Amino acid sequence: MFRLVCIGCGATYASDEIIYRCRKCDHLLAVQYDLDSLEISREEWNRRPLRLWRYRELLPVQGEPVTLQEGGTPLYHMKRLGEELGLKELYAKHEGMNPSGSFKDRGMTVGVSMARELGMKTVACASTGNTSASLAVYGAKAGMPAVVLLPAGKVALGKVAQALMHGAKVIAIRDNFDRALEMVHELCVTDGIYLLNSVNPYRLEGQKTIGFEAVDQLGDVPDRMVLPVGNAGNISAVHKGLGELIELGFIDRMPMMTGIQAQGSRPVVDAIEQGLDPLIPQKDPETVATAIRIGAPVNAEKALRAIRETGGTAEAVTDEEILAMQRDLARKEGIGVEPASAASVAGVKKLVEAGLIDRDERIVCVVTGHLLKDPETVIRQCEPPIEIDADIASLRSVLH
Ligand SMILES: *Cc1c(COP(=O)(O)O)cnc(C)c1O
Ligand SMILES: [Zn+2]
Repeated sequence: MFRLVCIGCGATYASDEIIYRCRKCDHLLAVQYDLDSLEISREEWNRRPLRLWRYRELLPVQGEPVTLQEGGTPLYHMKRLGEELGLKELYAKHEGMNPSGSFKDRGMTVGVSMARELGMKTVACASTGNTSASLAVYGAKAGMPAVVLLPAGKVALGKVAQALMHGAKVIAIRDNFDRALEMVHELCVTDGIYLLNSVNPYRLEGQKTIGFEAVDQLGDVPDRMVLPVGNAGNISAVHKGLGELIELGFIDRMPMMTGIQAQGSRPVVDAIEQGLDPLIPQKDPETVATAIRIGAPVNAEKALRAIRETGGTAEAVTDEEILAMQRDLARKEGIGVEPASAASVAGVKKLVEAGLIDRDERIVCVVTGHLLKDPETVIRQCEPPIEIDADIASLRSVLH
């Protein structure tokens, strides 16, 4: 049992309404459960496999979900990088290990399942890449047509490849992500298509399970959770979910929610630094981390609350810092991620060096997408293979 609640005015909406924002005040909506009536125990959860659907009592889907067995991603203890930074307990939750290679699958298994339960026939989204790849995958699994709008020329190759191969209708807009989102929102509202951007509250329900899993894998609440921030849905979702665990009495405290953005795309960081609410959208965001190249984060209001209420913070890292950390994760920890994902760990490095993170903290960085999502950025950073004639002498000459 659940309903939708406006985070601005508190208006409520029934679970079968197709609605993305409050009709009275245009604020975001959130899913609210009657937690007292839920019959769940941590013991029961722990008996089930570590996957997103382990937590189904705290998810809105009633019937059989559209699933590809998402979640249950590894939590790696990064000993070498941690030691370099003087941190004993630095972890990475590798969301690149989801079915389509990013955490967006957690949102889509729930979002597409809800689209089907609500009787919708077509699903759509605007995307910096991973949302489109994930929607294409789950649309295929559900047998539902998917429409995706991308900013032309600004989407990493692997993501476009996925959206195309899994059969979505892929449309490139000659403008940025923020404009693509406005357009698809309008299309969905007028044409009866189901919108699956993170303004959709059901997507965030799926994504909140990152926090559940991190707690279950650690056996405790981390002191800090660090996430890259684009539309700010993921950081909001993790915060909401952990709040529910507190209400249920499953955990007793909240991690400090910490958001990392790119220097060229930093509206949330500015809002935190300057105490703004609402934040001021940034006009022409630019960064190599295309997944977080967003100037007008849809979930900013939820994210600013999450950061402020938990005593967390927000920090920006340069493209150079992001790429250097992408290489460090790959070469020192064996963790292959796309640039936006490396931003979270690069942010930790910066905050530690600035004395803003205590070295005793237990820190979980969410690394959001797989290395192979953006092969072009990878190749640009690496020396090409050494080509030699096919004889042993040549081989030895390049090795010694
Ligand atoms: C979507 C995405 C983000 C940003 O998440 P938000 O919920 O939009 O803040 C970060 N990294 C990757 C790889 C993503 O795909
Ligand atoms: Zn409202």
